[in-house]
Amino acid sequence: MPEKDPKKTEVLDLLGGKKRKKPAPAAEPAVEKPAAKKPAAPKKAALDLLSRKPKPAPAPAEEVKTAPEPVAAPAPAPAPEPAAAAADEGATLNIKAPISVADLAAHMGLKPFKLIAELLPMGVFANPSTTLDSDQVAALCEKHGITYERQKREKGAGVKAPVEEIKEPEAVAVEEEPEEVLKIRTPIITVMGHVDHGKTSLLDYIRRTKVVAGEAGGITQHIGAYSVEHAGHTLTFIDTPGHAIFTEMRARGADVTDIVVLVVAANDGIMPQTMVAIMHAKAAQKTIIVAVNKCDLPAADPMRVRTQLMEEGLVPTDFGGDIECVDVSAAKGTGIDDLLDLLCLQAEVLELKANPKANCRASIIEARMEQGKGSSATVIVQSGTLKVGMPFICGPYAGKVKTMLDDQGRKIKKATPGMPAEVSGFIETPNVGDEMVEMDNERSARKLSEERMEELRQQRLTAPRRSRMEDLLAMMGDSNQKAVLKLYLKGDVQGSVEAIKKAIMDIESEKVECQFIGAAAGPISESDVLLASSSDAVILGFNVKVETNAVKAVKREGVQVKIFSIVYELIDQVKDAMLGLLEPETRETVLGHAEIKQVFKLNKGKAAGSYVSDGKMLRTAEARVLRDGQVVFDGKMSTLRRFQDEVEEVKSGLECGIRLAEYNDYEEGDVIECYTLEKIKQTL
Ligand code: GDP
Repeated sequence: MPEKDPKKTEVLDLLGGKKRKKPAPAAEPAVEKPAAKKPAAPKKAALDLLSRKPKPAPAPAEEVKTAPEPVAAPAPAPAPEPAAAAADEGATLNIKAPISVADLAAHMGLKPFKLIAELLPMGVFANPSTTLDSDQVAALCEKHGITYERQKREKGAGVKAPVEEIKEPEAVAVEEEPEEVLKIRTPIITVMGHVDHGKTSLLDYIRRTKVVAGEAGGITQHIGAYSVEHAGHTLTFIDTPGHAIFTEMRARGADVTDIVVLVVAANDGIMPQTMVAIMHAKAAQKTIIVAVNKCDLPAADPMRVRTQLMEEGLVPTDFGGDIECVDVSAAKGTGIDDLLDLLCLQAEVLELKANPKANCRASIIEARMEQGKGSSATVIVQSGTLKVGMPFICGPYAGKVKTMLDDQGRKIKKATPGMPAEVSGFIETPNVGDEMVEMDNERSARKLSEERMEELRQQRLTAPRRSRMEDLLAMMGDSNQKAVLKLYLKGDVQGSVEAIKKAIMDIESEKVECQFIGAAAGPISESDVLLASSSDAVILGFNVKVETNAVKAVKREGVQVKIFSIVYELIDQVKDAMLGLLEPETRETVLGHAEIKQVFKLNKGKAAGSYVSDGKMLRTAEARVLRDGQVVFDGKMSTLRRFQDEVEEVKSGLECGIRLAEYNDYEEGDVIECYTLEKIKQTL
């Protein structure tokens, strides 16, 4: 059995808040360490398929998780009057969420521990000060036969704001529109594929040749999307090729794409990014049409591309499958009409419809801030009709449509479903993926904006709700259905990826089913994190790095990332997760970060001259050294100095000298993450 080196196995479990349209700003992250030792529960024989000898208690895998500050409960709402508290079966509860467990219990006339016990099967390890969002409150109320009426947040402490009916746009989205009001809408198409396979050339060719020449002499400007007419149909193309924007929008809940055009160069065949694009399109369950490009080249082998597609699980229609492939040349323009014909046909099959008279909703696909012009954004209308003068809410900000331009820079007064438009009138530059929703008037837009700002603030304090390996069985509750553990595997080489995937798929369990949303070789990138986030999957890394941008995304999106360097530890963790044996025992709270600016040689060892970039450094706390997103050392802080003085604490914006336990291999540019560990009480 191989020797295990605890320092080699890093498990980053960066956990954040629940899925949201607009990610909350990186709140004070808290980090959790999993159980160093597994509980003594016996392992099921059925699961122990990889017949290895029992190993000694494993070295604790380090697990880092960003979660909202566990101790910082939000300022609790005023304690409810005891008389009004007892909510009986059949009663109605009218409260504001987020709310703490203790307050909700008081409202419901129950003891907090009762709710804490009921939250456990929902995958929430709560304490009395844990804040619950409205979905959690609704679930608890339902258990007790109480009708929960979601109350809007009012401004002003103690002073009742004038009660105003605010049309909550969320409600509009879930309403089924009657068939007779629905009209065929323009399909939205995203182009993906490997770099240099001709995505941009294809988009350029279609735009150049198909956009109807307008007043501006047919000169189209790049606004992030454009529409073309073909065979009596209108098609809208997202003008930024690649899966990044596609997945970013999906991660934010704005899934605008209807059809994915996968561009594969016929001389090159399927390449790594083609596979990633396929993974993203499949995870989003999108219709894929393959444009086999560069067919004009002598080295082109379109049949080979089709065979390779089969290997990736996309069976072309030529081989009896349902994936349409069309041979094109973006350089010469051959086959492009066939591609557009297919897109029109596919759009018909998908029966894409929307109500142009509905309350207007549009998704932000690009946003910019121009000096002197303010913020503007390119949006694609999802439903209703976007009009000049329309008051709206976008993310937490209110606004009013000031001007609208089409993709040829012409002033327009309205845009219908599926159409792109450049809109000005935003107070703040919105985020890609935000949704712009029509409001009745500016006053209600402003009021909702205040409410959303407050909700955002509260969200940072709300318990995380992302899928985690530890919560797998708890999530299942008493249900007879199998729990699904969604995994996204990244490994150093394709061989290890295949082997690990197979070993995990071979684990048998009556309770849990593993689903791979993807498995590929290479470092964990931001787009991997976004894909995992939008599919609510856990990322497993084997001998891979986490790219710097990905670390930020992990914190923002709250995705669990676990990194291993020993195969059987990875597989054991998955097995244990399937048995419900991964119990977090300690919780980490990240206090701050310091960047190492200079490394000093001392008589004995070295010290890191650092700049505290956020939070603070605490001499008595734990600390780890991060290099390119990877933990290279984890231990205790031993010395903290300001100039010559030993100090207890150094705040953000100040320089200091740091020494960590016996560590001496600091490098300039490393980041020191300072954190505390806190035991989680297992009260139940
Ligand atoms: P992207 O990275 O996928 O957006 O690829 P580009 O559109 O930038 O194209 C990469 C290179 O391939 C450019 O030099 C293009 O001129 C060339 N290219 C694109 N499409 C074709 C094609 O159909 N035939 C040939 N011969 N070259 C092409």
